[in-house]
Amino acid sequence: MAQNPTDIARETLKQLAMRRILPTPDHYGEIYHAIAGTPESERIHPLLPILVAMLAGLPRQTPEIRRHIAAIQEAGRKEDWESIPPMLLHSVQQQGTQAQLTRGWADLIRELIKHWEARSRYTIAQKRESLERVLINFGGDAEALNEKLDGLARAWSESAPDSNLIDVASSESARATGDAGSWGDWRTALVSVLEIGLAGRLSAYPELAAETRSLAREAEAVGSEADLQQLVPRLKKFWLRLELASDQEQRLCDGLLNLLRLLTSNMSELVVEDEWLHGQIATVQDIVAQPLDMNLIYDAEIGIKEVIYKQSLLKQNLLEAQAAVKNMIATFVDRLGFISNSTDQYHTRISQYAEQIQQANNVGTLRTVMEGLVQDTRSMQLDVQRSRDELLLARQQADAAETRVHELEREMRAISEQVRSDQLTGALNRRGLEETYVIEAARIERAGGKLAVALLDIDNFKQLNDQSGHAAGDSALIHLVQVIKDLLRPTDVVARYGGEEFVLLLPDTDLDQAEQVLQRLQRELTRRFFLHENRKLLITFSAGVTLARSGEDRLAVLTRADEAMYRAKQSGKNRVEIAP
Ligand code: GH3
Ligand code: MG
Ligand code: MG
Repeated sequence: MAQNPTDIARETLKQLAMRRILPTPDHYGEIYHAIAGTPESERIHPLLPILVAMLAGLPRQTPEIRRHIAAIQEAGRKEDWESIPPMLLHSVQQQGTQAQLTRGWADLIRELIKHWEARSRYTIAQKRESLERVLINFGGDAEALNEKLDGLARAWSESAPDSNLIDVASSESARATGDAGSWGDWRTALVSVLEIGLAGRLSAYPELAAETRSLAREAEAVGSEADLQQLVPRLKKFWLRLELASDQEQRLCDGLLNLLRLLTSNMSELVVEDEWLHGQIATVQDIVAQPLDMNLIYDAEIGIKEVIYKQSLLKQNLLEAQAAVKNMIATFVDRLGFISNSTDQYHTRISQYAEQIQQANNVGTLRTVMEGLVQDTRSMQLDVQRSRDELLLARQQADAAETRVHELEREMRAISEQVRSDQLTGALNRRGLEETYVIEAARIERAGGKLAVALLDIDNFKQLNDQSGHAAGDSALIHLVQVIKDLLRPTDVVARYGGEEFVLLLPDTDLDQAEQVLQRLQRELTRRFFLHENRKLLITFSAGVTLARSGEDRLAVLTRADEAMYRAKQSGKNRVEIAP
């Protein structure tokens, strides 16, 4: 194989002649390189790598330029030189005026404004200063200004990690670091509010409940600003519908309450004879007269249900007793009829006998008549006697039945009265307290005595409930009322004023004596432990005591006692404070 270019050239010409190939430069080159064994990469024109390097060095490397570089390399390999200049020209033109700028002005200004107001480690004053510096120093050179401003925008954005609320990546990292203000936490809160706070309460509105759940799903999936933009208008529309629904519900509730008030006020007029209904109606009226309170309603429902049950039993007995009285009267009338019947028969017989006597013409006949008369008279006498006995018996039974009816009616009234007392402890309830207070207040007004009023509240009762259970709490209340009742005079009154609050009315008692009564009660409670599951539990209370003033409203007195009680709580509990 030829080694130097001269030998190779000679050999090439020989080959061209031998193979009768037209000696064009292309053919010459092809055979020359074949003989010289030049590798493919070295066969390209030496200008080609220079062109490629120039294109790759252009500042704006667009996809088109990258395509041109590949096409120029290919053209060079094929020695298709004509196609190269247009590509070169196009690439260089593309770099044009705009090519000098790092980014478009519009984009850049938008970015700067966005970061201007966003929270960042730089204050607005600092941002203004650096902006002014850049404007002064680079204002004359568009390319440099563009580059510096781009740098500013980048610096401001990097130093504001929370500025993009919807940036999922940053919110994820914020969640990981427990940043309470991050979008992730807000999103969790929103979803909980929708799912836990709302959906469960909307069972009466299945459509709204479904919408709530779908919104929660959507909120969960929010990952970008665009998602949020979609969710917000839906949320707004939904709040509006919710507001309408709750407004409607409130009106419904008010309407029902009014209806109930109307019904109960008319009912008590309609059922004047049914005295036992008055107790229940008064309770319902009490409840609807004040703001609705679930505890009050619940207590009243229990009380009324019990009364209704007992009264339904009594009513049955009453009906039976009334039926018995009716039977007695029927018997009585029967007997009367029988007596008048038999007297009628007797009269007929007598007149028959009288006729027979007149017509009798011998003693024998007369004697027979007399015998008949005597016998009839005797049997009639027996009839009357029997009727009288039966009537007496019927009368006694009627009396007994009547007594029973009265007894039952009394019992029913007593049960109706129970609505005045607290079902759990047997102390008076609020209604009972009101009625009793009116009577006592009128009495001291009349007779000029003193009425002491105490309000007591068990200490740390919630804790007792929490530690020993609600049932233990209930028993403690019963125990307290029992101790109070045992200790007070028969004329004193204890009423349950609220959950674990009680009111004592102590007639003819002055402030000092009342204070002593309560202190005695405190000592008594330390002696008489409350036993729960064989554990001794100590119940203490704090109390406020005051005197009712002449003509004073009950609520004013209780407020004074309550304030004193509050002082007792404030100064350490298990104390009695007086309000002169
Ligand atoms: P303080 O010493 O300040 O009065 O504290 P306290 O825990 O007694 O007062 P608080 O008002 O916080 O709690 C009263 C508790 O009484 C809360 C409630 O569950 C309970 N309670 C109210 N009524 C009843 C009831 O009928 N039975 C039972 N077992 N607990 C009741
Ligand atoms: Mg309390
Ligand atoms: Mg308490």
